[in-house]
Amino acid sequence: MGSRTFDAKYALIGEDLIIKENVRIHLNQNNKIIDIEEINNVNNNSLLIPGFFNSHCHSGDFGLYNKFPSGLNLAQLVGDNSVKSNYLNTMTYNELSDNIFKFAKNGIKNFITLYCDFREGGIIGTQPYLDSANINLINFNFKQLNIENINVTILSRPESLEEAKILSNNFGLGIRDIYYYPIDDLIEFVNIYATNNKPIQIHVSEDLEKRNAWLNDTGETDLIWAAKNLSPELLIHTNHAEQYEYQFLKEQNLPISICASSNNITKTKEIDWQGLQEIDFPTKLINLGSDNAMFSQNEIRNEIKNIQLKFNLDSTDLLKISMLPDKIPSLNLVHNIEIGKFFRGTFVNVKKSITNHNDVISHILD
Ligand SMILES: [Zn+2]
Repeated sequence: MGSRTFDAKYALIGEDLIIKENVRIHLNQNNKIIDIEEINNVNNNSLLIPGFFNSHCHSGDFGLYNKFPSGLNLAQLVGDNSVKSNYLNTMTYNELSDNIFKFAKNGIKNFITLYCDFREGGIIGTQPYLDSANINLINFNFKQLNIENINVTILSRPESLEEAKILSNNFGLGIRDIYYYPIDDLIEFVNIYATNNKPIQIHVSEDLEKRNAWLNDTGETDLIWAAKNLSPELLIHTNHAEQYEYQFLKEQNLPISICASSNNITKTKEIDWQGLQEIDFPTKLINLGSDNAMFSQNEIRNEIKNIQLKFNLDSTDLLKISMLPDKIPSLNLVHNIEIGKFFRGTFVNVKKSITNHNDVISHILD
């Protein structure tokens, strides 16, 4: 048998998060699950879950959490010359490094085991990752901090084609809203990263004015244009998109990351949950994100509470939405607890017995 085992009173197994009781997980020396055994009785009160997937965040502004004036709008908070950009532009390397790792540790505390971190600032902005951990393709293990079972997909933001060539060796491409770039540069960035087989994720339709300006200039929305021309594996925000655009995404099988708490803080319109429901938008294409660390320090449970109020989902779908990145190609089903996958689970203490997914939700939201 493998080099390590874990026992769990309850565990959510496989892509359907089936509840199993009294299980022993066997891992080999590479952390791969080689067996899931049902045993007689486990004496701890643990629930093993794959952990939450935070599909969109920016760790760099962690130090601004609760330190920005209230009443500011999107541009004032995170645009050019904003509270956030001024902070990022003047921070030291050590501050950035600190922010990145505190954000990771907070994620672990909040039962997050996988997240996509959009790092601003080109090469300098990704340097702490390169300096502090061993790169395993696009996924990172924080081995030097002895933090296991948290994986980060890092999306870099090149500031020139030269930077793109270097960054694409190790990282994905995280595109700020496309209005900020000349079209030729966008296409070239995408070509460079795609050649290196790295994921491309794009912010779209967060800011209504900019979305409308793009629509006026090109005849289609930034969402549709980006989806057609930039080969994204994930579109971020989409909060101003209309029904026909969600229909288009559904046909393309293109997943989205919804950052509702962030939209509320920046006073942009929250996604049209009802509209999604009306066109029967597949829940598999929906992922939740916490966005800027100045708003949320790597926490997905708030997003679950929000979605519970606005979107009529059964508890199984709610858990899947918050845990499984199953339609994002670079992360495709890496996250399940099942034989043959790498172990990425985390344990939650439970006080009462668990018989269904409703019980699981009430325990993890407690
Ligand atoms: Zn973002």
